[in-house]
Amino acid sequence: MQPTIFVPQDVRYLIHRLQQAGYRAYAVGGCVRDTILHKTPDDWDICTSARPEQTLAALDLPNIIENGLKHGTVTVRYHDTNYEITTFRTDGVYADHRRPSSVTFVQDVREDLRRRDFTVNALAYNEEEGLIDYFGGIEDIENRVLRCVGDPDERFQEDGLRIMRALRFASRDGFQIEEQTAAALRRNAHLLKNIAMERITTEFNKLLTGDHVEPILTAFASVLAVVIPEIQPMIGFEQHNPHHALDVWQHTVKAVVGVPPEKRLRLAAFFHDIGKPSTFTRDEQGIGHFYGHPSVGEQMTQDILRRMRYDNETIAHVAKLVALHNRHPSLTEKSVRRLLHAVGDRLLPDLLRLQWADAHAKGLPVETETEAYFEQLKALCEKEMHSTTAYTLKMLAVNGNDLMAVGIPKGTQLGRILNALLEDVMEGTLPNEKDVLLSAALELSQGT
Ligand code: ATP
Ligand code: MG
Repeated sequence: MQPTIFVPQDVRYLIHRLQQAGYRAYAVGGCVRDTILHKTPDDWDICTSARPEQTLAALDLPNIIENGLKHGTVTVRYHDTNYEITTFRTDGVYADHRRPSSVTFVQDVREDLRRRDFTVNALAYNEEEGLIDYFGGIEDIENRVLRCVGDPDERFQEDGLRIMRALRFASRDGFQIEEQTAAALRRNAHLLKNIAMERITTEFNKLLTGDHVEPILTAFASVLAVVIPEIQPMIGFEQHNPHHALDVWQHTVKAVVGVPPEKRLRLAAFFHDIGKPSTFTRDEQGIGHFYGHPSVGEQMTQDILRRMRYDNETIAHVAKLVALHNRHPSLTEKSVRRLLHAVGDRLLPDLLRLQWADAHAKGLPVETETEAYFEQLKALCEKEMHSTTAYTLKMLAVNGNDLMAVGIPKGTQLGRILNALLEDVMEGTLPNEKDVLLSAALELSQGT
């Protein structure tokens, strides 16, 4: 029995308009796949036998974006949603493993489906004809199998991005990558070097936040190492440490799945131990140590994320989490204030989630003291965040204007004094009270 496909009314309308004008038209690709998977598609794409100019005439809608016309794509805006309507086409030669140098418009939907990457994406549907499935896509969806349409080596050689797309679909939807497809994917992994970083990064984000990311990171680490060579030494890197039963890569994978599927957190978990291989030492007992790996990792993470074209805010956020992931303050107000000073309120929840996942990813049972530590740390952080104390200049009971009002001149000395006051408040040697801080400031200004 065919799965039922529910097509939104607006999509049905667009398909019907094209059909009424004498063309064939279908919902196609990811939207059909997602609907069968009982997922809500992000967008609905339509394919049609109408050429772009015929599509424009048939729809006669005011909001049309024509910038994909060369490849046969018309984007129409209808009821505040964009729809891509693409003419049935075959792709010409792929000279550079990226984009076809030309496309040819065709009349047969089968030809159009044949150029698509995976059988599960090579499905089309309309109400009149039902599901169009020439390549076994429905069966593959039912069995959760990801398989190339046609010869997998050729398909990856045409467009190397499909390698990342395969890993992404497997991670998002729990597909098993079929054997021949997986073998070809590995054989052709080097082609990822030809692909624009922005496109890879888009897929990498989806891969990392997938529900089924663990087996993919485990089985395809060396494929990802084509994109991020810095992870290669992590794979199989033994830690020689009684606190770790897993190698650096296995531990990393567990940390990734141990944090919620949010982009920045997953990135931080992915990179948190990237500084380990280059900082490894062994002591006289043969025990392994990784002194300084968080700050080495911070620098590496910044470099990698910059190369991968992440935005500055993401880079700063993730690199800071990597830098601080190993910082476990003692459970005193003073130490917790120092942590809050270093991490800031906004990043704190992510840091605590990362540290928790890190502690639970060592391949060893987690001791009750460790669980208790995290509970208490969280409680202490919250208490400090809501207390009258200060761990940032902003929270200090005096500011620059207050100091100038009692006669301390504007300038570098003023900044030094404010920082010294903050130090004392964090240390607990001064209360965060205006009068006390003002007289301490005056003393400091006279002393310097
Ligand atoms: P998503 O859920 O992320 O939108 P999708 O499969 O819909 O996934 P799109 O990039 O929206 O991905 O592409 C729509 C359809 O176009 C795909 O389902 C597939 O049929 C085809 N397609 C997209 N990219 C490629 C590619 N690189 N090679 C071959 N076919 C592709
Ligand atoms: Mg899509």
